[in-house]
Amino acid sequence: MPADIFKALGLGKTNSGTYLGSGEWSTTTDAGLLQSINPTTNQVIGEVHATSQADYETVVARAQAAFKVWRTTPAPRRGEAVRLCGDALRRHKDALGSLVALEMGKSKPEGDGEVQEMIDIADFAVGQSRMLYGYTMHSERPGHRMYEQYHPLGLVGIISAFNFPVAVWAWNSFLAAICGDICIWKPSNKTPLTAIASMKICNDALKAGGFPDIFFLINDAGVELAQQFVDDKRIPLISFTGSTQVGRTVGERVARRMGRSLLELGGNNAIILDETADLKLAIPGIVFGAVGTAGQRCTTTRRLIVHESIYDNVLATLVKAYKQVEGKIGDPTDPANLMGPLNSQGAVQQFLASIEKAKASGGTVETGGTAIDRPGNFVLPTIITGLKNSDEVVQHETFAPILYVMKYATLDEAIDMQNAVPQGLSSSIFTQNLKAAEQFLSAAGSDCGIANVNIGTSGAEIGGAFGGEKETGGGRESGSDAWKVYMRRQTNTINYSDSLPLAQGIKFDL
Ligand code: NAD
Repeated sequence: MPADIFKALGLGKTNSGTYLGSGEWSTTTDAGLLQSINPTTNQVIGEVHATSQADYETVVARAQAAFKVWRTTPAPRRGEAVRLCGDALRRHKDALGSLVALEMGKSKPEGDGEVQEMIDIADFAVGQSRMLYGYTMHSERPGHRMYEQYHPLGLVGIISAFNFPVAVWAWNSFLAAICGDICIWKPSNKTPLTAIASMKICNDALKAGGFPDIFFLINDAGVELAQQFVDDKRIPLISFTGSTQVGRTVGERVARRMGRSLLELGGNNAIILDETADLKLAIPGIVFGAVGTAGQRCTTTRRLIVHESIYDNVLATLVKAYKQVEGKIGDPTDPANLMGPLNSQGAVQQFLASIEKAKASGGTVETGGTAIDRPGNFVLPTIITGLKNSDEVVQHETFAPILYVMKYATLDEAIDMQNAVPQGLSSSIFTQNLKAAEQFLSAAGSDCGIANVNIGTSGAEIGGAFGGEKETGGGRESGSDAWKVYMRRQTNTINYSDSLPLAQGIKFDL
């Protein structure tokens, strides 16, 4: 029930989209109104007032003031703040997971799973807060010591996509927080309610724990404020998750002002099935990867490259599996359904346009290929064969459940096909051949940021650095050493001797 979810998360029918700090939400009502639309019905589920220019200035000024305090707060103490956020998210997991399903359109288990990712990265960040390590180096000069340390960067701007409306913020903000930064979040204007709810949960927990403001929220009804945010020199890092098209302009604008950007953009992910692939693993991996979240994950499987000797069998098995999914498409909040809607009518139009383009290029629709005639933005999961990897429609990320199935003869050819797209996010091979697996993972193998063996392309654990190469933007966030992007590195040399040896042995006789 939306009313119960709203109540549990402190939301109203109309909400402020700006958290100003000091426990204050803006009362601005004349900066535009965002409508949150349920993709299952296309009905409005709530409204959000956008952020005015004056509100924006207040947010940045308060964030700057907050940074002066937070940067000198000991890092393990900053970790304690994030631990409280993780605990609060545990308590609100069911309600927030339901709101993610309602507003974004992913299934309830996927919505809950997204909140679990927030909790997991909170745990990870708490541990990381005691491990912001730098190297110690041996100096060339006697009586000298050299080391490096990582200092907080400042304000971190986070712009997120609709398809992971809450987890992406947590991946960035919890690590940035333990690094001593203050975050300002501009969520997707398609999913403002989940953002407001996440802010309320975390900021209430911080306040109850006696911590200052470290997370701020702005919302933009159009793109003007978002562009101003990207251009703002007071924000040294913009972490942007979204399409390659928008990410390219964000990267260019941030570079122009010599800022830092972390870009997490579109993918065009492939699975290779070699002749030894265990189909008991591969088929569910492919179907989940291609159909899960209705094809709206950056890591969704979009291309399947199958050895010619098993191609006919794999295709027939997949078509049968897709027909089973067709019977389980519907309201994502109903646990019986495996696939929900696309997020918007615009996405349905893009799905249909890509199907037409594929047919015009000589493709055959093996299953699916149409929208479903019912309220909401539902489409059939689709398999298309007969296209070349180089065909324009195959080269492009259509954010919908369309899988292009292609044949190959040699592994070299399959790896070349996998790599021959502009994007470089996720990739995988299903094989029982050690040599094939190692070749795929080698320097001459997959060129993606993520390369898996006997696991599909979709999703990733928070413990690894997440991101991709080429037009996926090159950014890495979440686990491993991704925390370093939220800090500035400083090299320090200390002379504890009685002489001052100059570089290159130069002598200054003074
Ligand atoms: P999008 O590019 O349309 O929007 C992303 C964000 O940018 C939103 O917050 C939007 O309001 C904002 N925005 C739009 N125009 C802007 C501008 N001119 N300046 C600044 N901000 C602007 O993307 P989307 O449709 O929300 O998300 C889907 C895309 O995101 C897909 O391409 C998907 O692959 C990608 N994605 C990538 C990752 C990853 O980690 N690589 C994760 C999730 C989604």
